Amino acid sequence: MRPTWLEIDLAALGHNLRLLAGRAPGARIIAVVKANAYGHGAVPLAKFLRERQGVGMFAVATGDEGAELRRGGLDEPVLLLGALHPQDAGDAARFGLTPTLVTPEAARAFAAARPGGGVQIKVDSGMGRVGVAPASLAPFVAEVEALGLNIEGIYTHFAVADENAGETRRQLEIFLEAVRALPRRYPLHAANSAAILAGIGTNLDFVRPGIALYGLPPDMHNLQGLEPVLSWKARPTLVKRLPEGHGVGYGLTYRAREDEWIATLPFGYADGFSRALSGSGWVRWRRGYAPVAGRVSMDQVTVSLNGPADLNEVFEVVTPDLDAKTSLTGRARSLNTIHYELATALGARLPRRYREEG
Ligand SMILES: *Cc1c(COP(=O)(O)O)cnc(C)c1O
Repeated sequence: MRPTWLEIDLAALGHNLRLLAGRAPGARIIAVVKANAYGHGAVPLAKFLRERQGVGMFAVATGDEGAELRRGGLDEPVLLLGALHPQDAGDAARFGLTPTLVTPEAARAFAAARPGGGVQIKVDSGMGRVGVAPASLAPFVAEVEALGLNIEGIYTHFAVADENAGETRRQLEIFLEAVRALPRRYPLHAANSAAILAGIGTNLDFVRPGIALYGLPPDMHNLQGLEPVLSWKARPTLVKRLPEGHGVGYGLTYRAREDEWIATLPFGYADGFSRALSGSGWVRWRRGYAPVAGRVSMDQVTVSLNGPADLNEVFEVVTPDLDAKTSLTGRARSLNTIHYELATALGARLPRRYREEG
């Protein structure tokens, strides 16, 4: 429908899943597919992970994301990672989602909406964002048990797993000390991608990989055997020579040079190609890199070519590697952000093509 599209390499996804599972051999995988599977497409990826890789549990951020998985035909347990707001208890119950409880108000609301329902409890072992304080865990667990809810897991989340192993181990110890005080044992989990790759928290019952499943290295530098899953491609809709000095794009911030060709590519910041790449981003084509010429618009990007291009030529907007100019990771570094943000910004309107051959 559109001469720009994302290519999602399911074989690479399977490779990453097996690599991560191999680092946590005793643990079961909770595949984190929030934010539309980090822009890759939640339902197709979850189905592939279930059918071809045996993944039996998923995690998303919001009730809407969970409902999307249900409507897409996923019946497996779906954990909602954000703290449940009492107001959302009814929706979580209706779609059979497993909420994360950190307040008595939310616990009571969910128990009313789904008596005996499955829940998980999150412990704040140091990040200060979502979770019950370690010292409050035992009374909170008792309260949730008294409401008749079924506690299917207790977990925590690491703040610096990608940069500080010592601090991460300290967080794990705080978490384990809190659960040791409970009268019985519950399934436990803690490790995100960075912790799995660092071998921290990998001997608990579950691990929760997100970014590394997609082949994007948590440390932004070293692939560590991961294979990036996503490429972004486009065909130009117009290739032309402009008279020397002719303006290009909003604000006329760029002026055509002699012997320069300008290609118009059919995507823009509304598709997740950040406007901050105006005059500084790159795409790749047959003859190497093509710099963004002028401002990125909502639906179009103009790039400078050192020769003519055919309308059927495929330009690479995102390459599945760590290239400084064209990978999600390299581009994120140049924009002073993280690849998580660039991946999750990939527009819902971009066509996504899934291929499975290795
Ligand atoms: C997003 C998230 C994950 C996955 O993190 P990655 O760094 O992408 O592996 C795991 N656990 C929680 C609670 C999360 O919010």
